[in-house]
Amino acid sequence: EGRCHLLTPLMLGCCVSPQIDKYLYAMRLSDETLLDVMARFRREMKNGLSRDFNPTATVKMLPTFVRSIPDGSEKGDFIALDLGGSYFRILRVKVSHEKKQTVQMESEIYNTPEDIMHGSGTRLFDHVAECLGDFMEKQQIKDKKLPVGFTFSFPCRQSKLDEGFLITWTKRFKASGVEGADVVRLLNKAIKKRGDYDADIMAVVNDTVGTMMTCGFDDQRCEVGLIIGTGTNACYMEEMRHIDLVEGDEGRMCINTEWGAFGDDGSLEDIRTEFDREIDRGSLNPGKQLRWSVGCTWGELVRLILVKMAKEGLLFEGRITPELLTKGKFETKHVSAIEKSKEGLNKAKEILTRLGVEPSHEDCIAVQHVCTIVSFRSANLVASTLGAILNQLRDNKGVGRLRTTVGVDGSLYKMHPQYARRLHKTTRRLVPDSEVRFLLSESGSGKGAAMVTAVAYRLAEQHRL
Ligand code: BGC
Ligand code: MG
Repeated sequence: EGRCHLLTPLMLGCCVSPQIDKYLYAMRLSDETLLDVMARFRREMKNGLSRDFNPTATVKMLPTFVRSIPDGSEKGDFIALDLGGSYFRILRVKVSHEKKQTVQMESEIYNTPEDIMHGSGTRLFDHVAECLGDFMEKQQIKDKKLPVGFTFSFPCRQSKLDEGFLITWTKRFKASGVEGADVVRLLNKAIKKRGDYDADIMAVVNDTVGTMMTCGFDDQRCEVGLIIGTGTNACYMEEMRHIDLVEGDEGRMCINTEWGAFGDDGSLEDIRTEFDREIDRGSLNPGKQLRWSVGCTWGELVRLILVKMAKEGLLFEGRITPELLTKGKFETKHVSAIEKSKEGLNKAKEILTRLGVEPSHEDCIAVQHVCTIVSFRSANLVASTLGAILNQLRDNKGVGRLRTTVGVDGSLYKMHPQYARRLHKTTRRLVPDSEVRFLLSESGSGKGAAMVTAVAYRLAEQHRL
């Protein structure tokens, strides 16, 4: 009875030994802790928005120069580049107005090999320009100069829409000479150097912003964009009067929170575990990003826990294989597979067998439990930071009850069998005075990037006339 008590809210079954619970206890976050994290994140948001505190703020709250969601008048023929998520994708987005606004999209996925992600910035942008050339060739538009929207899913400082200075690489990217530089300039340079086509890069947008805009196209109430994939982040519509870094007090502007940085200053040490620290030491960008909630580290987190448990004889009768000890051998998609309600345990058996540990049925149950704890913690943490944004929106509007829509995208959110439901539930529990609709972005952030580009293009045209 005592042992079940520890993990009750998380438990699916109750048949995990007390020793195992002891390990995982530190990963369980009570609602009290989550509310505390939510309050801390709200303070971080305030700091990031303020002129005095922004320079030292961990959560950068970056102005995006996007002032509203689509209003339905956008039209034209656009290209959207989408770099920094699970895939590098190029899209052609045609927005027309026959009876009503319709969007037609075609896209290609391109490879971005490791050596390009980790090589020189010049090579990375040459690669992007080459893929764009290939795409235009296929679309037979190499002779046109179409407006391009660039979804670049990394933290960028902007002082206008068509400029983005990369603050720091995150996730699996680490190309040299790009941090501190304007990615629009780098891409333009790479395109000019080729000389076989022209492009007009009108906007750089974070993937969160692209997602909010994509969903805003279908739901006028959408004012938050959320990504839960290899990385996690959110943007939302903030009142101009609260944004010190941008002149003017009228209306709203979308803020890219870059909440992945929350805790980079050590302010969340109390909820980090030894496993989180170990992951951090082996990371490409150590000390950066809320490691425990991003998809690129879930598999590793589970693996490290399994190694430790096996070492103490709590799993696999103490068997430790070279595979189990190899970084990356346990993947995030395995976590999703193992948590499937019907085939989950069979999947666990399959995956663990491939690691050579000869799992018993009890081992499989325990490993499923570990996966649940890890993914649950992630959903809980995301719910608490999202909760802070929702509270901010509610206070901004001065309403008692907030009615809003959150546009969501990201491989984890889409693929994990339980994640979305847990996130929705926890968010609603943490912010009870709200009515939140979660809207999955069916078409990624490309459509949204095209919308941003459309508005920028229209304004530029007006300017030219
Ligand atoms: C990046 C964000 C991005 C998020 C989701 C993070 O690592 O810093 O800019 O929105 O990943 O792709
Ligand atoms: Mg202002």
